[in-house]
Amino acid sequence: MTFAIHGLAVARGIAIGRAVLVASSRLDVAHYFITASQIEAEIARVRFGRNAVIDEIHRLQRTIALMGPKEAPHELAALLDVHLLLLQDEELILGVKHWIADRLYNAEWALTTQLEVVARQFDEMEDEYLRERKADLEQITEKVLAAMKGLSSPVVPPTPRLPRKPSQQDLLLDDTVDVPLILIAHDLSPADMLQFKQSVFAGFVTDVGGKTSHTAIVARSMDIPAVVGARLSSQLVRQDDWVVVDGDAGVVIVDPSAIILAEYGFKQRQGEIERGRLSRLLHTPAVTLDGQKVELLANIEMPEDAPGAVKSGAVGVGLFRSEFLFMGRLGRLPDEQEQYEAYVRAIEGMRGLPVTIRTVDIGADKPLDKSTREDSHLNPALGLRAIRWSLADPDMFLTQLRAILRAAAVGRVNLLIPMLAHASEIRQTLSLLDHARAQLDNRGIAFGPVQLGAMIEIPAAALTLNLFLKYFDFLSIGTNDLIQYTLAIDRADESVAHLYDPLHPAVLRLIANTITECNRQSKGVSVCGEMAGDTSLTRLLLGLGLRSFSMHPAQILAVKQEVLRADTGKLRAWADLVMTDDEPGKYLINA
Ligand code: PEP
Ligand code: MG
Repeated sequence: MTFAIHGLAVARGIAIGRAVLVASSRLDVAHYFITASQIEAEIARVRFGRNAVIDEIHRLQRTIALMGPKEAPHELAALLDVHLLLLQDEELILGVKHWIADRLYNAEWALTTQLEVVARQFDEMEDEYLRERKADLEQITEKVLAAMKGLSSPVVPPTPRLPRKPSQQDLLLDDTVDVPLILIAHDLSPADMLQFKQSVFAGFVTDVGGKTSHTAIVARSMDIPAVVGARLSSQLVRQDDWVVVDGDAGVVIVDPSAIILAEYGFKQRQGEIERGRLSRLLHTPAVTLDGQKVELLANIEMPEDAPGAVKSGAVGVGLFRSEFLFMGRLGRLPDEQEQYEAYVRAIEGMRGLPVTIRTVDIGADKPLDKSTREDSHLNPALGLRAIRWSLADPDMFLTQLRAILRAAAVGRVNLLIPMLAHASEIRQTLSLLDHARAQLDNRGIAFGPVQLGAMIEIPAAALTLNLFLKYFDFLSIGTNDLIQYTLAIDRADESVAHLYDPLHPAVLRLIANTITECNRQSKGVSVCGEMAGDTSLTRLLLGLGLRSFSMHPAQILAVKQEVLRADTGKLRAWADLVMTDDEPGKYLINA
């Protein structure tokens, strides 16, 4: 039966494919496709893991048999029997083989996929005792996965291939091999997303998350259709269901009929035609009708994103979110040399264009690892995040500063500091920067000059601009957080997403004032939050005097098209009108 689930549109485009449900707790397993010749070896790996757990249970059963009823309660023996039964369950075994042999999933992926299938059947059981056996199933799956780790993988994960797009014929014939896969999860951390960045998925859907949550940002940077905040999607969609992800409208259509498929297939082709049309603007300079030059920069998460940014027409990197180098490493942070090499890769990838490296912004919805998420009773967005985190660990911060300063000897580097609000934080940052330079000097290590920038993303900063302009060469407006902190809306919480409003007059005033003040004092200013890549806001930002936009590479050409059509002379007066209204949004609808 066809049905639709509504969520928030975060990454544009249409994806059509089969659902792969992933429970977030199991995301640590690798997801990659094997080749046909590796099927037997992968099945053998699962068999090895399963047999190891069965042997362990048999050992325990023998030990229990030697104990008295006091030391070994009856429940324990019964539990082991249940675990054995589950491990020997035909459906589990056949299911895992199916995912490996027919779908070419690697062993861990196949096992966790089948776990989801069987777990769902348990959920639907009337009998409470049987329903509760789901927890046992999860336990034994974890044990099998752990046992499999003991056996090194006989296969080298091949480079993940992107599945080809299915033809209408494929879809109607229900061809099961080689169709795109859509990842459906309750939640994904930014670190999970990073793992999936190299992977095979053609679309993403999560139950939770807001439009500017970091998970959504990474999905957007992958330029893959995605919907977040789709509430019950991970419960309503079943493993292997056909789904359409409409990343423009924020809708997920499950089990689409042939007519719906045809309609979305058409939309998909339209999107491709539009992209082809935009690609003609690649080498056109971003200049408005009245001759104003506009700088279109890229936001990147990893050094490997840099070549893609150049290909998209970016004239530099306006925001390198360096924290992604620090994530998913089980607390082992990258040392100075590793960071230096990563920054140099980004600089070289940009081929002489400037790179703005933001110091680490860990915290809030960007934990280092899943296991280190902050306590749920605290509000991490207001806690030890970004520069606060860096200043709390000066050695870590100095290591990063030294690595960036060294990289600045290789190419043009701007150094950007996130989430500053206090004069004392500015002073400490500058003093640590001096210290890092002195350390390099003492060690005889070369380093280069940097332009120093501050992010304006806390209202307190936007209201004390003179303090910032005294110390910094340029400012970069982080609208994602500026909106969050001005309106007291958690950017990652889908339940208040309707109140997360970039066009709230208070937000616009803070942005407008920052742009005006920087322009007046001839200091560089850019917007690097998601507003910069939103084409419906380009004219307004130009009208407010902004000439530097930093966004996901995939958005650059669409924003350039808006720039080429704009006349800033006319837009200035219009922007003034928008700014004096209580409901600025209405001007943009008719713009
Ligand atoms: C912002 O807050 O707008 C920003 C660009 O930083 P991040 O999204 O990484 O918090
Ligand atoms: Mg921010």
